[in-house]
Amino acid sequence: RAKEAGRRAIRFYEPVMDEKIERRRDLAAELQGALLRGEFHLQFQPIFALDGSKICSCEALLRWTNRQFGAVSPAEFIPIAEEDGLIVTIGNWVMMEACRTAGAWPDDVNIAVNLSPVQLRSAELPAVIVRALGSAQLPAHRLEIEITESILLDEVDTTLAALRALNAIGVRTTLDDFGTGYSSLSYLTRFPFQTMKIDRSFIEDLDRSPASVAIVQAIVDLATKLGMQTIAEGVETPAQLAQLRRTRCDAVQGYLMGYPMPASRVAALLAGMRINVSASSRNQDESR
Ligand code: C2E
Ligand code: MG
Ligand code: MG
Ligand code: MG
Repeated sequence: RAKEAGRRAIRFYEPVMDEKIERRRDLAAELQGALLRGEFHLQFQPIFALDGSKICSCEALLRWTNRQFGAVSPAEFIPIAEEDGLIVTIGNWVMMEACRTAGAWPDDVNIAVNLSPVQLRSAELPAVIVRALGSAQLPAHRLEIEITESILLDEVDTTLAALRALNAIGVRTTLDDFGTGYSSLSYLTRFPFQTMKIDRSFIEDLDRSPASVAIVQAIVDLATKLGMQTIAEGVETPAQLAQLRRTRCDAVQGYLMGYPMPASRVAALLAGMRINVSASSRNQDESR
């Protein structure tokens, strides 16, 4: 009977599965030449320090516009690129491009770059980063590497060694999507992260759920006591922002403060902020 049910189930799901597998296969094939065809670009989303409300860094977010599929979300294509190892080449391009872009920003604005666990395990990573920093003439401390929390669940020794190598170069490391990876809290003391990003799923409910407030407060307090900076991601409403101020979170990022935007717009935004600070319209004319 089980066999029969299994066969029925397979027959039922077959067309959908085929479609999914086919799309994935076609995307994988298109990914191969995407870099050479110039189909990738980066967008940058500002991160604001709550103390002073100034932009402290911008996160580079990869965008792929394919000739056949149009815009494809990184949530869909990054796992495919990870599977066939292409993420290393693509990730190297992201690193070069992100550092180059940040080279034109004011000294006090950092660049945050997402790194795949596959890249983190690659032996050439430190060299790649040093090269990207060098060609952009960007000091290492202005680069923040974001690594998703799920990395902590496997290959602990490799991960630890890779993180230490990054810290040795002088770049900062950020634990991304904290709260989604089911890792033990004790891991926080073992892994050398300077910053923790609290996942959007906790921020979402902040303005209506006292339980979420308690959780975010506990995370911020713990991270702070362990000497880490805290960033809340996915802030969409003024009520969430107000709540985050009360928890004494260090920085915020989300659609409320700014969407991911092209390099040209982020440069203009940063230049504008500069001018506001110096309050001189003459500087503005000269810089053009
Ligand atoms: P992430 O690093 O956690 O990035 C945050 C994601 O949330 C981004 O989606 C961003 O556009 C989105 N977001 C920002 N603010 C808000 C908000 O207020 N509300 C909502 N609903 N969403 C918000 P995106 O750009 O689609 O990227 C998705 C994921 O893909 C990233 O999650 C990251 O894990 C991965 N990714 C993006 N670029 C790269 C890259 O260059 N390399 C690697 N390895 N992964 C990348
Ligand atoms: Mg990130
Ligand atoms: Mg995140
Ligand atoms: Mg996330």
